[in-house]
Amino acid sequence: MNQIESNKQWQPTACILCSRNCGIEVETNKQEIVKVRGDKAHPISTGYLCQKAQRLNFYQNHNDRLNSPLRRCSDGTFEKISWDTAITEIAAKLVNLRDTYGGHSLAYYGGGGQGNHLAGPYAKALRLAMNTSNYYNSLAQEKTGGFWVDGRLYGRQNCHPTEDVEHAEVVVFIGTNPWQSHGIRNARQILQEIHKDPNRKMIVIDPRRTETAAMADLHLQLRPGTDAFLMAAILAVIVQENRHNQGFLEKYTTGFNVVYNSLISVPIKDFAIKAGIELKDVYEAAHLISEAKSCSVRTDLGIEQTLNSTLNAYLRSLLFLITGNFGKKGANNFHTALVPMIGHSDEGKKQMRSKVTEFPFIANLLPPNILPLEIDTDHPDRTRGLVVDSSNPIVSAADTQAYRKAFAKLDLLVVIDVAMTETAAMAHYILPASSQYEKWETTFFNMEFPKNAFHLRKPLFNPLSGTLAEPEIYTRLIKAMGVFEADLSELREVAHQDRFSYAVAFQQTLAKYPKLFDYAPIVLYQTLGDTLPEGAAATAYLWATCHQFAGKDPDSVHRAGHQGEGFELGEALFNAILSSHSGVVFSINEYEDTWKFIKHRDGLIHLEIPEMLKALSLLDPTETNLMQDYPFVLSAGERRSYNANTIFRDPAWRRSDFDGVLRINPVDATGLGLSNNSWVKCQSKRGSVLARVEVSDTNRQGVVTLPHGYGLEHPASDGKRSQTGPHINELTTSNDMDPIAGTPYHKYIPVRLIKIHGEEL
Ligand code: SF4
Repeated sequence: MNQIESNKQWQPTACILCSRNCGIEVETNKQEIVKVRGDKAHPISTGYLCQKAQRLNFYQNHNDRLNSPLRRCSDGTFEKISWDTAITEIAAKLVNLRDTYGGHSLAYYGGGGQGNHLAGPYAKALRLAMNTSNYYNSLAQEKTGGFWVDGRLYGRQNCHPTEDVEHAEVVVFIGTNPWQSHGIRNARQILQEIHKDPNRKMIVIDPRRTETAAMADLHLQLRPGTDAFLMAAILAVIVQENRHNQGFLEKYTTGFNVVYNSLISVPIKDFAIKAGIELKDVYEAAHLISEAKSCSVRTDLGIEQTLNSTLNAYLRSLLFLITGNFGKKGANNFHTALVPMIGHSDEGKKQMRSKVTEFPFIANLLPPNILPLEIDTDHPDRTRGLVVDSSNPIVSAADTQAYRKAFAKLDLLVVIDVAMTETAAMAHYILPASSQYEKWETTFFNMEFPKNAFHLRKPLFNPLSGTLAEPEIYTRLIKAMGVFEADLSELREVAHQDRFSYAVAFQQTLAKYPKLFDYAPIVLYQTLGDTLPEGAAATAYLWATCHQFAGKDPDSVHRAGHQGEGFELGEALFNAILSSHSGVVFSINEYEDTWKFIKHRDGLIHLEIPEMLKALSLLDPTETNLMQDYPFVLSAGERRSYNANTIFRDPAWRRSDFDGVLRINPVDATGLGLSNNSWVKCQSKRGSVLARVEVSDTNRQGVVTLPHGYGLEHPASDGKRSQTGPHINELTTSNDMDPIAGTPYHKYIPVRLIKIHGEEL
């Protein structure tokens, strides 16, 4: 790594607090981020940012940063060890477990967070060295139901539609509050534009009157857990009134007749009553959607982490598909991906399944909800060794109690992280990573269409002493495992000549040693990497990625302004990405291109998904889900002004809501004798948390909300560790999950509230 001079210049980088990864400029002083502003040169965010980015120094500098590999002692404390010792011992233990019990006894969790993605291909190489497919990731806490549906509709689970909210005449937000959670480009700016334009309409479906819902033309404040009923009712109105787009359906889809027969028999009135929505509002939503010249549907965790998660994803897709709002401006479209974020799990006879629970992989991922069950068992094929990178499942996955119990049974738990997380505290080994601002980094969340961009970020600071970037950690581990024994000296020499000669030599090397293909990122890192400027060695695999992308879709790369043909075009793209620190447009498509992304052989969208139509037919509006002793529904994980993921450990980063209040409707509060700043014990069938109360008429009666990102431990001024705010996964259970995707029901947790008096706190 080149030494970086401390300076007070504004430097481009990205915010890492949500999936938008806005381009920002920061002023630094020594190891500190002093000031932050939006980067107007960023091709997507163009200068936009929200208030959270101003607090990024709390990620970069805090008292929980790790600066040495640690090994657990027999008394439970940690001792510092050298990198060589740590790598040698961990590699030997991984190899021993792999060779004794098989690769399936090993698993990998995490990788990434909201922008720590450059190491992804290196982590994949480690999984290959571990000989395991067991890959747990937070995407499988949210999106896998949608991926499964996409696989059926479009032919592959990584055919991923995005939303052109920016240009839509009618926008439908379901289970999402972009004002706080963003998720769409320059959210607040776009929401204001829609709100002010009399020719555009915004429909919000959410049990809470969120900031976004307050701006909507139509807010359907449904009962929690009834999204499927409401979406089905809207779809039924569309087909019963013949408002579906017959021309689109005939040209681009198959199976609509079967879907039609299911929707035509939906009891609209009963479903509306179940959802707690007036019938006229259901009709108005259906009319707005079906009459719009363009309509885009944007959904998020609100429908992904609740009852009927996978069915919700299907019905969400039908909303834009049966109305013909796909493959055009202002609708939903596929997007390109320079580095694909997910893969595809074939649902054929040999579909991969986990060993203990036999849960199917979706998009090559397993859901975190099943991991405790895969570990905490006597099953001979149980998981015995786990590598966790940039994740904190003890706090962020459902059922903390089950996780703690299971992790205590692991033969080997290795955590790679920048900070002493709650998960790291349980590890046998902790490997300290450099922060996202101390190394080359990027994000794979590039989901724009028709213009898509990639932002490679150069380090702002020298790495904290004692830390390593993940690509180096993975490379050392893989080499120590003895699976990568190749003499790369010749290839390294050629890399210093010219890139075309290198490309030829690289291919010859892989042809000669086919096993090296699994470790191609490491080969590139250790050969081409030497030649890259400013210590950018870990980015070397992007060279191959750029060539692959330019080879497959040269037209979109040309439209993005990159010149040349064949090899030259790939070079031009890579050089642009490497040298532009504010991000680069890598592809510009035409709306018609949407149809090229479909992977079914007939090129059509397959609307009929028997499992989903059966689930639709089983929706019972008379069914009550709540348990008698738990009269409230907790929607956990609300996005607020000052919560993010678990990346901020120092509670001082928050400018408001220090305790993470529990919001409750005034009628419910009065019934329980609660007022602002009362304290309650919020109790589920699994556990309880204490919370300060905020009375808020934004919540529906019967619904209480808590934010995510709280409950983390941090060193207090007296040196002891203290916890701030409710740790919501003390309330959740692994068993409460979607039967297809395994996504947890965080937005539907039956709870009761018990008023706490001062002396009980
Ligand atoms: S929208 Fe997201 S990425 Fe952008 S500044 Fe806010 S938190 Fe950061």
